[in-house]
Amino acid sequence: MTPAQAVVALDVGGTGMKCALVDPDGTVLHTERHPTGAERGPAAVVDTILEVAEGLAGKARADGRTPVAVGMAVPGVVDEARGVAVWSANVGFRDVPLRELAEARLGLPAALGHDVRAGGLAEARLGAGRGAGHVLFVAIGTGIAAAHVVHGAAAVGAHGAAGEIGHILVRPGGPRCGCGRPGCLEAVASASAVGRRYAELAGEPATAAEVAARAAAGESLAGQVWRETVEALADGLASGQALFDVATIVLGGGLAQAGAQLLDPLRAALHERMTFHREPRLVAAALGDEAGCLGAALLALDDLEKR
Ligand SMILES: [Zn+2]
Repeated sequence: MTPAQAVVALDVGGTGMKCALVDPDGTVLHTERHPTGAERGPAAVVDTILEVAEGLAGKARADGRTPVAVGMAVPGVVDEARGVAVWSANVGFRDVPLRELAEARLGLPAALGHDVRAGGLAEARLGAGRGAGHVLFVAIGTGIAAAHVVHGAAAVGAHGAAGEIGHILVRPGGPRCGCGRPGCLEAVASASAVGRRYAELAGEPATAAEVAARAAAGESLAGQVWRETVEALADGLASGQALFDVATIVLGGGLAQAGAQLLDPLRAALHERMTFHREPRLVAAALGDEAGCLGAALLALDDLEKR
């Protein structure tokens, strides 16, 4: 009998790292969380990533499992083919060869992926998009990003930057986006944008979740902000559908936690925008914030199969 195996998986975010040991069948065996400590600079973050990964491999061995691979997901621009974290605004990576570093430190094959593409991969294969074949995963949080997954593989793009649906222009002359251009989807409809817009109209700060709750309670300004958000998202998703013709759109990230309050009007607004395009199924993500970590494990397993 072959001994039980485990994949070491890490999803590195701007503030925290979600880490896990995952069985090759996709079952999560163990989870850990660690602060990223991005303020310490990228070199210190890399040290922490390697240390945590090494610790997880040790934990697997202590539990009687053989660690077989390491999967890591990071934000920003990621060159998956070379295993390089090319650029990241919130972690500060600039051309960090993370895959090579992890392989050298742990003596295990490693794979590096993009956090949202990893999350989308997991949702498409194990979560809300399971069985759909063609899936667009859209994460709506501080920003908006997407992963286009076809038969279990996420498109990476020529430069590691596919899926930036948050920078589709939806409101020419609208609020300025973090990328510098006015009117991007993310500047109008991300969770942060919802809070900003409400503060602008109501003169008091509120989180997107608070705006959602106030809109549900019938507060008119909150209702207006929510409707504007839904309209902008529908414009963005309609562009996504025109490009990708998917069977299922999976919505994840903080804003999707509003559930039916977001999905029902968004489904209607998307329906209005479909002409000859086939309307996709619109569903909420199913894996929660474990998705990125699970996706990192899937990437590592896929990579192992190719070797
Ligand atoms: Zn932008």
